[in-house]
Amino acid sequence: MADPFDVVVIGGGPGGYIAAIRCAQLGMKTACIDDWTRAGGKPAPGGTCTNVGCIPSKALLQSSENYEHAGHAFADHGIEVKGLALDVKKMQARKDKVVAQNNDGILYLFKKNRIAFFHGHGAFAGRDGDAWKIRVDGASPAELVAARVIVATGSKPRALPLIPFDDDRVLDNAGALAIPAVPKRLGVVGAGVIGLEMGSVWRRLGASVTVLEALPAFLGAADEAVAKEARKLFARQGLAIETGVNITAVTLGKADVAVAWTDAAGKAQAASFDKLIVAIGRVPNTDGLGAEAVGLALDERGFVAVDGECRTSLPNVWAIGDVVRGPMLAHKAEEEGVAVAERMAGQHGHVDFNTIPWVIYTSPEIAWVGQTEQQLKAAGVAYRAGSFPFSANGRARALGDTSGFVKILADAATDRILGVHVIGPFASELISEGVVAMEFGASAEDIARICHAHPSLAEAMKEAALGVDGRMLNL
Ligand SMILES: Cc1cc2nc3c(=O)[nH]c(=O)nc-3n(C[C@H](O)[C@H](O)[C@H](O)COP(=O)(O)OP(=O)(O)OC[C@H]3O[C@@H](n4cnc5c(N)ncnc54)[C@H](O)[C@@H]3O)c2cc1C
Repeated sequence: MADPFDVVVIGGGPGGYIAAIRCAQLGMKTACIDDWTRAGGKPAPGGTCTNVGCIPSKALLQSSENYEHAGHAFADHGIEVKGLALDVKKMQARKDKVVAQNNDGILYLFKKNRIAFFHGHGAFAGRDGDAWKIRVDGASPAELVAARVIVATGSKPRALPLIPFDDDRVLDNAGALAIPAVPKRLGVVGAGVIGLEMGSVWRRLGASVTVLEALPAFLGAADEAVAKEARKLFARQGLAIETGVNITAVTLGKADVAVAWTDAAGKAQAASFDKLIVAIGRVPNTDGLGAEAVGLALDERGFVAVDGECRTSLPNVWAIGDVVRGPMLAHKAEEEGVAVAERMAGQHGHVDFNTIPWVIYTSPEIAWVGQTEQQLKAAGVAYRAGSFPFSANGRARALGDTSGFVKILADAATDRILGVHVIGPFASELISEGVVAMEFGASAEDIARICHAHPSLAEAMKEAALGVDGRMLNL
């Protein structure tokens, strides 16, 4: 048996590979095990995020947006496009290349940081004194000994109880990202981040898209004003969204899939689709981990049970990312990975769930951090709000994308920023200013007094901050 490791990380997604890098930076002898395999049997570290999540979805969102702009928006700029054509195969090949670049980048980072990478499936195989034995099954089986273990095994898609995924007509996120030709009629079950992003990709490429959401409210987690604006804009784009839906039957036909449901008014409805994407959430992945054998406690929903610092029920075993409680976001997984590595080294790693940004990469993009207006009302917090529309922002006009607004919520007594909400162009980038402001305990007045470059979309942030005090300059 080889020398023991200080840390073995099981899972090489954004949580696991970042945790491994931080452990190595802090001088720990580190291994990372990941079982994701790409064509040709090569390892594909990066997890859901890199292979079938954040990265490929953003690649297709960009390609499909370019196509839509060339078809609809360029004419406004005086650019005429003749013979516009779509090559989905090439678009998919580009996406695969982007994914592979990220896989290779992570393999390079393992080497650079002297992390031992094992391509295979890792499982607890018992104790070795105070240490843990971890078995690796795969092309090169191994048994590792680790003083400490980080479980970062991520999540997997949840299927509809009525019908399993079949990789052909009933698709999970991986299938949704690999559709080889534009479907005429696309059904999407679930109006969450994944459903809306995937629906947007295929609508832009020409599919007629219907999104069916079980909850009565659209984007219930977002600020109500943002959700209302988003629904209006998505409807204008041709994305048909139904909320309060109860799906009663899903039946595979010869070449289609028939869905029956009752709508919010209790009326029976039905439609046939060429493809059905099911995006109703994800479940923690502890398959084949050997959790039961070593007594690793799971909670009632199957997540690895952890305390506020990501410690599990077992000594020297930690768990991070999608496989534990909290938002299923890549950056949350990464931050937990860094914090756990630092705690192991006797430092004071910390993740503040209240300042984790949320982003939906639709068009317009939606992003927020902190509290929504409805949360503040429910908690009885007195606040002031400032809101500034991109239609009054010079850069947005020049871009030709004036939809949406920035909204800042600040404590009525102290002016401390409690929430920042953006719907509009590059919201994913703009939200960082809100995150920084909240992390530093900034007031709206602080943002209002900061010099923002002109012309920039960020000026809408400054104006919204001025708006909290009722003194916007450009509206
Ligand atoms: C379509 C889609 C789009 C998304 N877009 C975004 C986005 O834009 N921004 C964002 O923040 N989040 C996004 N997410 C969510 C994000 O992908 C996850 O939150 C993130 O990947 C979680 O990271 P993780 O490291 O916890 O787990 P994962 O990324 O799931 O990685 C876990 C890894 O561990 C491996 N593994 C599991 N068990 C074992 C084992 N026993 N042995 C060895 N290896 C094992 C898995 O195969 C996988 O490679 C998206 C998700 C989807 C599906």
